[in-house]
Amino acid sequence: MHCPFCANEETKVIDSRLAAEGRQVRRRRACLSCEERFTTFETAELVMPYLVKTDGRREPFDESKLRSGVVKALEKRPVPAAEIEVAINRITHGLRTAGERELPSRRVGELVMAELRKLDDVAYVRFASVYRRFQDAAEFAEEVERLQESSAAALDADQLPLLPGDDK
Ligand SMILES: [Zn+2]
Repeated sequence: MHCPFCANEETKVIDSRLAAEGRQVRRRRACLSCEERFTTFETAELVMPYLVKTDGRREPFDESKLRSGVVKALEKRPVPAAEIEVAINRITHGLRTAGERELPSRRVGELVMAELRKLDDVAYVRFASVYRRFQDAAEFAEEVERLQESSAAALDADQLPLLPGDDK
């Protein structure tokens, strides 16, 4: 980049180190013309994908919705809060690094089930039974829509919550 002091194009890196627990590179630079020094930070640009519902509507990923679904499944279960945080981080990391701009919303449910299965059998069964019921209902609604031209007679798959606890 150009020197922010004199706009000269030539700068050199005089120091480079990891910052933010390795998620960032911090570089100390010196301008070859005016010799002023400045620091730049480099981070990977990773955005959360949009979630695509069964009817094709897109919505932004909502971490608080994910968290409430996971916490509700683990209610009164002997799982330390720190382990729940690790699981939620793994789920969001999995979504962020999928490298897709859009993902089917059911992908979130699958990741949650995979994490809960590792944490606690009871929580896993709780979540899976509620989630699969809604999933089946959503698929049923899609089928009804395919068979009938009139959407008025079809179930509205969008009214179905993505995660347990999403229904207020
Ligand atoms: Zn300069």
